Amino acid sequence: MIIVFMGPPGAGKGTQAQILQENLEIPKLSTGDMLRAAITAGSDVGKKAEELMKSGDLVPDEVVVGIIKERIIQADCATGFILDGFPRTINQAQALDKMLKDNNLIVDKVICLDVNPDVIVARQAGRRIASKSGCVYHIEHNPSKVPGKCDVSGEDLIQRDDDKEDVVRHRLGIYADTVRPILEYYEKQELLNKVSGEQSVEAVKQQILSIIKQK
Ligand code: ADP
Ligand code: AMP
Repeated sequence: MIIVFMGPPGAGKGTQAQILQENLEIPKLSTGDMLRAAITAGSDVGKKAEELMKSGDLVPDEVVVGIIKERIIQADCATGFILDGFPRTINQAQALDKMLKDNNLIVDKVICLDVNPDVIVARQAGRRIASKSGCVYHIEHNPSKVPGKCDVSGEDLIQRDDDKEDVVRHRLGIYADTVRPILEYYEKQELLNKVSGEQSVEAVKQQILSIIKQK
């Protein structure tokens, strides 16, 4: 099962991908998490990504395609995976199909979470992340059990550099400028499922699970 999550930054992709990863027992592959880990590690990929991510711009296609290509051939991806934050350009969508085809695989479902930009700006100020476990929280809507600590790893929660309002608005603009051809690409293949991300985390989860169960 290969599932692609789409939607504007802050729509809830990471939150729902995390829930689904536990439900389906297949890993969530978040290019944002992988790039943040590369920055922390000081790798070449991290050096290429750091300034672009800070300002909210997209990292070049060849960099993200490269990290996904390496990741999907690992053993834990053998029964499927959930893509969170990839593809973000039509070139990435086509590169994904090509690398899947090379391995006799196809995308099974695309889930696009729709959320109004104003709701997103309000949401992102409250986002807190755990960089090791990949868990995502919100100080009001989805708090951790112990404030400031991850439920899974116990690590300290942090606020992302790119969650400042001006950067969030810039990222939303990039999404609006790039998303249409990708949605059309998946619509043509009858893979696209739209879900309102403005419902509770639980309601969004239930809707996604029912989509996953459909043939
Ligand atoms: P994305 O991966 O699409 O950027 P996240 O999953 O990181 O989005 O969610 C952005 C923020 O919104 C996080 O703080 C998260 O806890 C919160 N959030 C996610 N889903 C919902 C929801 N349905 N209602 C309210 N807040 C949510
Ligand atoms: P995210 O964690 O998905 O919100 O991504 C954070 C940032 O990482 C984005 O604003 C981009 O700078 C970069 N990024 C993540 N995924 C991609 C991608 N598929 N293509 C290009 N840049 C990406």
